[in-house]
Amino acid sequence: MLAFACPVCAHLVTFESVRCLHCSSRLAYDPRARTIGAISDGEAGDGLLCVNARLASCNWLAPEAGALCASCSLTRTRPNDRDADGLGGFARAEAAKRRLLFELTDLGLPVESWRERDGGLAFDLLSSASEPVSTGHADGLITLDLAETDPARREPLRVALGESYRTVLGHLRHEIGHYYQPVLVPPDSEAEPAMRELFGDERADYKAALRAHYSSGPTADWQQRYVSAYATMHPWEDWAETFAHYLHIRDTLQTAAAYGVVVEGPAFATADEAPLESDPAAAEGDSIARMLAAWIPLTFALNAISRSMGAQDTYPFVLAPAAMRKLEFVGRTIERASLEPVGQRPQRR
Ligand SMILES: [Zn+2]
Ligand SMILES: [Zn+2]
Ligand SMILES: [Zn+2]
Repeated sequence: MLAFACPVCAHLVTFESVRCLHCSSRLAYDPRARTIGAISDGEAGDGLLCVNARLASCNWLAPEAGALCASCSLTRTRPNDRDADGLGGFARAEAAKRRLLFELTDLGLPVESWRERDGGLAFDLLSSASEPVSTGHADGLITLDLAETDPARREPLRVALGESYRTVLGHLRHEIGHYYQPVLVPPDSEAEPAMRELFGDERADYKAALRAHYSSGPTADWQQRYVSAYATMHPWEDWAETFAHYLHIRDTLQTAAAYGVVVEGPAFATADEAPLESDPAAAEGDSIARMLAAWIPLTFALNAISRSMGAQDTYPFVLAPAAMRKLEFVGRTIERASLEPVGQRPQRR
């Protein structure tokens, strides 16, 4: 994430700001200009703001008066107006989704909505209090159980499943990884054999893999090859987990760079490649190798700082060389897709 300044008084504001705490200007995020701008209360009332401004605490400008913004319009289903609990979770999920969308656009990844084409990106944000909901992805549709936005319900699950990290943004980054897998590595494309080489053959029986994962768990040495235990279940899950980590790493590095954070100590843990450009497109040389070289010392520092606050590690993972090679592969497919103009992106052969 980038750091933003109030356009009126130049004080620091955040991606979520709706009002400047210093000069009280009303603020909104403009997804086309990718900046925080000032709007008058009249303009907000005239419908410049997303119509979900109140319902989803959305601070994005809409493309036209009385419309949903580019992020909210991707949501196909939300809790109904009488479900107060569900709507609270919906607002928290939309906040995480705006961060996801910011990064996807920042990476230059194509975001095609379900409103534009069959199989386009759609979100069903549903409350499992009223119906069974399973978080997942199928044919462009990402379903999120809004219980995941409530720490009192998410944390017991995280502990029961033995996970070191579980967040709404993490779920969204994992599921969007499933969405981009066939976009970035189309079936029968040149990249497909290389993907199978690294992640395994994704044609393996998914249901059998799921059963095996929940009955016998991951192999003892999974940390040597995977970013997480869940990634061991099936090549598709390995891709999605790795994709999520790529987004975690790139976003956190971008934020560090935007705030001028450079890790210069202790001497044995510094990065040769830090600081990273806050605009990755402006970074020279091999940006993925630079990213990973800057990431390791930053995680040492961030985890140490978290522990000083009595909190859990910011990045509670160890990246083995095999997992880094997968991250590199994901990063390169993203770079390729974002460098090529729409229409020249990888096509099926
Ligand atoms: Zn201000
Ligand atoms: Zn919105
Ligand atoms: Zn998955």
